[in-house]
Amino acid sequence: MTFWDRYLRPTTVDEALQELARAPGESRVIAGGTDLLLDLQQRRQAPVRALVDITGIAELCDIGEQDGSIFIGAAATHSRIVEHSLLIRHAPCLVEACSLIGGPQVRNVATLGGNVAHGLPAADGTIALLALGAQAIVAEAGGRRTVPLESLFVGPGQTTLRGRTALLVGFLFPQRDAQEGSAFQRIMRPQGVAIAILNIALWLRMDAAGIIAQARLAVGPCGPMPRRATAAEALMCGQPANVANSERILKALAEDVQLRTSVHRASAEYRYHVLGVLLRRIVPSALASVAGALPAIDQELGESRGIG
Ligand SMILES: Cc1cc2nc3c(=O)[nH]c(=O)nc-3n(C[C@H](O)[C@H](O)[C@H](O)COP(=O)(O)OP(=O)(O)OC[C@H]3O[C@@H](n4cnc5c(N)ncnc54)[C@H](O)[C@@H]3O)c2cc1C
Repeated sequence: MTFWDRYLRPTTVDEALQELARAPGESRVIAGGTDLLLDLQQRRQAPVRALVDITGIAELCDIGEQDGSIFIGAAATHSRIVEHSLLIRHAPCLVEACSLIGGPQVRNVATLGGNVAHGLPAADGTIALLALGAQAIVAEAGGRRTVPLESLFVGPGQTTLRGRTALLVGFLFPQRDAQEGSAFQRIMRPQGVAIAILNIALWLRMDAAGIIAQARLAVGPCGPMPRRATAAEALMCGQPANVANSERILKALAEDVQLRTSVHRASAEYRYHVLGVLLRRIVPSALASVAGALPAIDQELGESRGIG
């Protein structure tokens, strides 16, 4: 049984789009193949006419600054993200998330774009990108568009890219200021299952008095699609950081998310319990990453928060 007829290696986005348009719906983008090849082999994905390998497109492998934002190409591997100094500085939660994905063999080939395009509600890279307020750049025959990351997801494992001739080019998010920090936490079964029981990513902006000025919180899987927990975010704002663990915020978060029982991972009850544990852990982690940015502000904020 063959799973594809032709394997193509374009070197530009335009070439890739042309190949995808040649057999719409019957050709598929492949990056690291860690999700797609299993889907083909286990028949969750019907055999395709062509696989369009995007890992030879230089633009899609790029990581760098772009007009004051940080750009990560969709074909950047998790290993490269974890080691990249720009991302260590500007995207601590993403670096942490990518460092936990699979093992070294998976991280060496699996890409951030593949993690997002697979569309799973608890994909680690996706959850971290949501907390960073990332936008996605999508290329289609008609041109390119930059859209909020959330808008790509339309159902469990379904994105606006599926069945179409679109290509995810990369992700953009703001550079980090000294008052900002982020962190990622997850609970995972030790073996055999690739997706977290629960994961959480938090991005914070503190004001000089140690008050949370802005927050972005994403939890996976908190419903059929990856998304942010905006009710809990709103409650965090205007609070001193040590209040961010409060029961009121946890209650709002628990009401906002839909945690369900999965035979492969955990019961809903266990997930709700873990939600509180992860929330209590992630606030100090995100604050520590604010503190890591600028030692001068660090001390000041640390004292006002009572963590110095
Ligand atoms: C052993 C193992 C452990 C894993 N552990 C984890 C884990 O801990 N956390 C986690 O989140 N995931 C995990 N995964 C899942 C997987 O490795 C990641 O989701 C990975 O990032 C997928 O990237 P890829 O490049 O391999 O995607 P591929 O398999 O190449 O593609 C996945 C899907 O995305 C589409 N696609 C890929 N790139 C693009 C693009 N640029 N534009 C449009 N569509 C695109 C493909 O057509 C396909 O539908 C694991 C997988 C395995 C096998």
